[in-house]
Amino acid sequence: MSDSFLELKNLKKSFAPGEAVLQGINLTIRQGEFVTLLGASGCGKTTTLRIIAGLEQPDSGSVWLEGQDVTALEPNQRDVNTVFQNYALFPHMNVADNIGYGLKIRKAPKAEIKKKVKEMLELVQLEGYEKRKPSELSGGQKQRVAIARALANNPRVLLLDEPLGALDLQLRRTMQLELKRLQKKLGITFIYITHDQEEAINMSDRIVVMNQGQFEQIGTPDEIYNHPKTSYVAAFVGNANILKGIVAEKNGHHIKVKLGDEVASIDTEEKVNVGENVTVALRGEHILLEENGDLHATVKEKNFAAGQLRVLLTLPNGDEVTASRFGMNADIQPGQQICWRFEPKDAVLVDRPKGGTN
Ligand code: ATP
Repeated sequence: MSDSFLELKNLKKSFAPGEAVLQGINLTIRQGEFVTLLGASGCGKTTTLRIIAGLEQPDSGSVWLEGQDVTALEPNQRDVNTVFQNYALFPHMNVADNIGYGLKIRKAPKAEIKKKVKEMLELVQLEGYEKRKPSELSGGQKQRVAIARALANNPRVLLLDEPLGALDLQLRRTMQLELKRLQKKLGITFIYITHDQEEAINMSDRIVVMNQGQFEQIGTPDEIYNHPKTSYVAAFVGNANILKGIVAEKNGHHIKVKLGDEVASIDTEEKVNVGENVTVALRGEHILLEENGDLHATVKEKNFAAGQLRVLLTLPNGDEVTASRFGMNADIQPGQQICWRFEPKDAVLVDRPKGGTN
């Protein structure tokens, strides 16, 4: 399995002078990998995908597929297919004709098209639907047809631009599992776009977190979620609280950080010096509201979201943090003074200078 199946080399793109949509992105993808581009609206995800597909030309930089520079090739000259959020099915064609369309264009023999369509219908579990028109299908079924149509062309890479974006949450979850199963079974490289962090974590081998035309961090779901490198990644994936502090003491990997006038212990692999300003990412579920906590706060608000109690706390230095935990004591009331703490291993130093680990 080659490590550099698909490579993006220093891709730059702008649509208007001085407004860089891609600021020189680099990415190496392995054959059979499921890679997700995750980022807020407008960060350049679709533009990246369109350049890989050949639907858009970069201003500079190149796209390599299996050691070949494909940057100048037309979309139909590269073995790359795209599935869009809006399905883009041909409304006047039935399911079978939609799926077989690419093969027909390439003048494949009728018997081969028929066989492939049957195989694809089985793959996406739509046997018996071949004569239906897209208007007679549900959203999830339409999306399955769109995926089957793309896969019928035997692409080496499948690009999926928010393919589940139009589906309701329950169907979305089912389709996430189905897509992942399909991808593993076929061993095709998937490049998937979403702005849904949960979807990215559930499905991907690696996640690329994008921000304003740049890659903030590339890593496995575990690396991205548990070891975010930047405050942007920590806040975007898992809504971490971001706190400013100063290193007060250092003893190997154990440091004490002043958060205002209070001091918290943190375990870190980062190279830090006493007196240094640091940025700390702390997830809401790691905030423990306990009487023996040595940090203090006033409860500002509390609410329930997604079955979880969320408590907004104001710290003595005026900073705010949100604690969110299942089973947290619901008796807490706004205005109440409380004590809190976190485990030293649960706080992460982010926005570090490059090459700064011990
Ligand atoms: P979303 O999640 O909303 O789809 P995205 O991350 O996919 O966003 P892109 O579609 O890549 O973002 O767009 C990035 C920026 O480039 C946006 O500011 C967008 O307005 C701009 N842009 C994209 N395509 C064009 C175009 N053809 N002409 C001009 N500007 C464009």
